Amino acid sequence: MHNLQINAQRLWDSLMETARIGATAKGGICRLTLTDLDRQVRDWLKAQCQALGCRVMIDEVGNMFATRPGKNLTLPPIAIGSHLDTQPTGGKFDGPLGVLAGLEALRTLHDHSYTTNAPIELVNWTNEEGARFAPAMLASGVFAGVFTADYAYGRTDRDGKSFGEELQRIGYRGPEKAGGRKFAGMFELHIEQGPILEHEGQTIGIVQGAQGVRWYDVTVVGQDAHAGAMPMGLRKDALVGAARMIERIDAIARDIPDAVGTVGLIENRPNSRNVIPGEVFFTVDFRHPDDKVLDAVEAKLRAALAEILPSLQLIYKEARIWASPPVKFSTELIDCVRVAAKQGGFSSRDIVSGAGHDSVYIARVAPTTMIFVPSRGGISHNEAEWTSLEDCAAGAQVLLNAVLEYDRRLASSRPTAQ
Ligand SMILES: [Zn+2]
Repeated sequence: MHNLQINAQRLWDSLMETARIGATAKGGICRLTLTDLDRQVRDWLKAQCQALGCRVMIDEVGNMFATRPGKNLTLPPIAIGSHLDTQPTGGKFDGPLGVLAGLEALRTLHDHSYTTNAPIELVNWTNEEGARFAPAMLASGVFAGVFTADYAYGRTDRDGKSFGEELQRIGYRGPEKAGGRKFAGMFELHIEQGPILEHEGQTIGIVQGAQGVRWYDVTVVGQDAHAGAMPMGLRKDALVGAARMIERIDAIARDIPDAVGTVGLIENRPNSRNVIPGEVFFTVDFRHPDDKVLDAVEAKLRAALAEILPSLQLIYKEARIWASPPVKFSTELIDCVRVAAKQGGFSSRDIVSGAGHDSVYIARVAPTTMIFVPSRGGISHNEAEWTSLEDCAAGAQVLLNAVLEYDRRLASSRPTAQ
């Protein structure tokens, strides 16, 4: 049996090379989706894949697919990949590791002239982060039938630019219908983004599934007024209302085991030193592995809004803009990852994803799983995000091993048609 070894230094060099596209002063990346920087890194990836003889196709929402043919023409491809967009102060690894480890897997197969049974397909999903266009995982969601392409095109950033216009502008609105291609399975390597693997000294997280996520938009409306002339008892201070809600949202999540709750974006208007704030917009993000618990959390959020804001003479609008239910990944693919980690001699543990990922949507349309590697200090969505060369390489090796294991299983379950 072949024992294909990935090239750790080449993987690292690609990570560092692409990290220069949108590099920040503090060592991170700011490469928001569908910007000129996103176009640059996409062009780079396309060229690298074409140099390996892969055919690169783009779908209608900008998802990129680089295909390396297999021996068996009846097998759909095994997909690998992640996303190349980042948060505004993102790190070097969240997303890029999964894509570039996939590229390293293709390069390794190419080096050894190894032909798999199924085609191998490297994927770069558009707008995973949702930092510029909410919601997150937008284009993998279109691929999986969760959203329509028109819904994606109509999403706007805070400057009013639409996803559709920006996709067209950077030249990545492709001809293929999203979701038009089938996968035999999808493996996504990603950094853990949490502290568990590092804390326990384990190298590989065998991901069992992902917790559910709910996003809300809240606008609190009071009245702008002079900071000197309006007595305290007559104010309608929207920022005070938002502040009390933020405290309560934190308390709701702290009260429930395994729940997390975050207010991460707030806009205060008019945001002037001597004006009582008349309007505040903020976002809410709640997560938990059980959907029933998320229903209860939602009821608590709505009860808190109704209790806190009217008593401050404030009115409000609230909308749940996104809900991603908890997901269980494919037991067969999870088993391939387990075998792959053992083959590589890496320590491992089972883990549940705390973050949302493209794979959560892809799991609806194809057998899917993920592989995690440690994040130093559990930190991500941060320029200080760090995963060592050794851990990145271990992840890439497990990714390749898992793909080859699954490829063998696919071939033995279906006769080769030549
Ligand atoms: Zn990510």
